[in-house]
Amino acid sequence: MISCAARELFEEVGVLLARGSRTLTTGQLASLLDDLESKRMSWPELLRHYGLHLDASDFTFVGRWVTPPFAPRRFDTWFFLVSSPPKQEPRVTPDSELESGEWITAREAHAKWERSEVIAVPPVLHALETLAGGLTDDLVERFLSVPEAHREPTRRIEFHPNYICFPVRTPTKPPATHTNCYLIYNSNEILVIDPGSPYGDEQAALAKCVDSFVTGARTVREILLTHVHPDHVAGVNALNDHLEKAQGARVPVAAHRVTAESLQNQVSVDRFIEDTEVLELNGEPAIKLRALDTPGHARGHLCFHDERTGALISGDNIVGYGSVLIDPPEGNMRDYLASLARMRALPQLSVLFGGHGPAIANPYEKIDEYIAHRRQREELILAAVREGASTPKEIVARVYTDVSPKAHAMAERAVLAHLEKLIADGLVSEQTDGEYLATQTKR
Ligand SMILES: [Zn+2]
Repeated sequence: MISCAARELFEEVGVLLARGSRTLTTGQLASLLDDLESKRMSWPELLRHYGLHLDASDFTFVGRWVTPPFAPRRFDTWFFLVSSPPKQEPRVTPDSELESGEWITAREAHAKWERSEVIAVPPVLHALETLAGGLTDDLVERFLSVPEAHREPTRRIEFHPNYICFPVRTPTKPPATHTNCYLIYNSNEILVIDPGSPYGDEQAALAKCVDSFVTGARTVREILLTHVHPDHVAGVNALNDHLEKAQGARVPVAAHRVTAESLQNQVSVDRFIEDTEVLELNGEPAIKLRALDTPGHARGHLCFHDERTGALISGDNIVGYGSVLIDPPEGNMRDYLASLARMRALPQLSVLFGGHGPAIANPYEKIDEYIAHRRQREELILAAVREGASTPKEIVARVYTDVSPKAHAMAERAVLAHLEKLIADGLVSEQTDGEYLATQTKR
């Protein structure tokens, strides 16, 4: 692991932490890096060739973290504390996996997170907080003072201050296995968005997390729902039962009118949220969320936009993992594309907090990618219809060649959504026998 850490450090930021490297010139270091990146030499060969060796005492173990359950890429990562050798300075190397880099103090990096200018994953945030506390004698102890530094799975993730992402296990659409519940809080109030797990153990874990934020001064104000799907609403009643026992009263549930109607007899919705309505938390810091009616994945789908920080709770319109299914009649492709365009037009989006998977730090690129993907599918589907494919099954066989046959039933639902849009656009017509034909109009 130490050797691995030393190699990564050299490859990604150009710092070579090997004994014997101090006499190497900057030019020699650059040629070593080139030898490694061009794979002319393996890491052990390189060390041997230049008479270098690693010393374990240069690396202080400061924790081992595993990724939260929602993440598609699994990491079980060892962290070490090292001193940068003299005359070497970390920088982003040309072939690095890093997008950008700057050399700033831990305190300043942490302050950037506090100002919501950057998002940070849990081990990085912990490292920044710990280093910002100063290089004290108990530094290593402080690094190791949280259970997550000992492989305890991370459950709550504070990508932005005051925004807690708490993924809960749900019977959702594979490959996703969890739905993100969000807790947004300030000094006085907490909003809970989409408590979606039907499982008792997960409901209990969420209740415990919510309880940890409730204080004498701070209470749960409302439970908000982004949309009607079971993996977003199945834990609402359990959470409210818990809150009734714990704090003596249920909290109001708020959702779009259409969602409320669909959920009749399952969840009682106390308040309707209207398009562009602003939800403002009482207390400090001031947090204002603007509700956006963004149907397409589901009727009555809501997103919540924090105009100060540029964060957008995107529900299932954009997700960090897996794909978004548009399944008629709940799903509507025309509405969906209009909703994506509306989200794209928001000023200063900084991050998307989706219903599944990690946060998305490049919102505009991601939305553009979603729009381009749908447009491309639509063109292929229209071309297939023009070439004589007349049923969703035939169209799937021609267009969804990249999808496994097991997923074909789902792909047919998506094709149907595209066909409905093409009919509305006047490019396709549905015959009385249920077949689809291209109209004569050319684009
Ligand atoms: Zn959904």
